[in-house]
Amino acid sequence: MSDTTDVAIVGAGPSALYAAFQLGLFGISFRFIEASDRPGGQCTELYGDKPVYDMPAWPTLTAQDVVDKLLQQIAPFKPHFEFGSTISSIVRDQSGVFCLSTKNGRAFSAKAVVVAGGTGAFVADEGRRLIAWDWRDWGFSGHHGAIEVDTERFETSMPGVFAIGDACIYPGKLPLLVSAFHEAALMVQAIRAQLAAPRRAVVEYTSTSSSLQRRLGVKD
Ligand SMILES: Cc1cc2nc3c(=O)[nH]c(=O)nc-3n(C[C@H](O)[C@H](O)[C@H](O)COP(=O)(O)OP(=O)(O)OC[C@H]3O[C@@H](n4cnc5c(N)ncnc54)[C@H](O)[C@@H]3O)c2cc1C
Repeated sequence: MSDTTDVAIVGAGPSALYAAFQLGLFGISFRFIEASDRPGGQCTELYGDKPVYDMPAWPTLTAQDVVDKLLQQIAPFKPHFEFGSTISSIVRDQSGVFCLSTKNGRAFSAKAVVVAGGTGAFVADEGRRLIAWDWRDWGFSGHHGAIEVDTERFETSMPGVFAIGDACIYPGKLPLLVSAFHEAALMVQAIRAQLAAPRRAVVEYTSTSSSLQRRLGVKD
């Protein structure tokens, strides 16, 4: 079993990468657990060379550029990736810590879990293929193969386990990158409140906050 990290992130697609950026900003430790042998999810596995035209403030860039820029953005937080690790169960023990087990017998522990597993796991063995999930088999409420969440905290029916990106569903959900980034930002405030700051968190801007800038390594 690994050392207990604050947050275990299932997946390392674009939703997961942006969630990690938000977690890092607020000093919350995280670890990615990814089935594939590389980050990027659908962007990398399915359409890396295709141009994307609907990223805010970037009129055009390729899907792989999106991933590369997200990786660049989290570099200050020295991200830790566990590649080739497909999570197959999430269980909470009596002390409230989550234990995540992989198909190949590894185990990770965390105080909170973010499921950012998209529509399924990309596995690199036997050629690249997608194993689609029905998350209900994992004990989550959901429909259309996605996990039901509320739109304030993005928490699942399992308290302490959150879901964002293509893995989650709620009224009006759009399976787009911009939606996933919005979901990640709100979810991290909920995780922050749960782990560290029980009182309502004050909004901080990266453009003006010295503490956020110090975490990003751009201010002494
Ligand atoms: C062809 C195509 C074009 C698209 N074009 C656009 C576009 O122009 N604009 C736009 O906004 N969106 C576009 N999208 C949608 C966008 O790519 C998705 O909304 C986005 O990738 C969702 O990100 P995600 O991180 O939630 O999931 P994913 O990208 O699916 O990443 C999930 C990751 O989790 C891993 N994983 C899953 N289950 C497990 C597990 N049990 N254990 C460990 N790891 C696991 C997977 O291997 C994967 O790496 C497009 C999608 C496709 C297919």
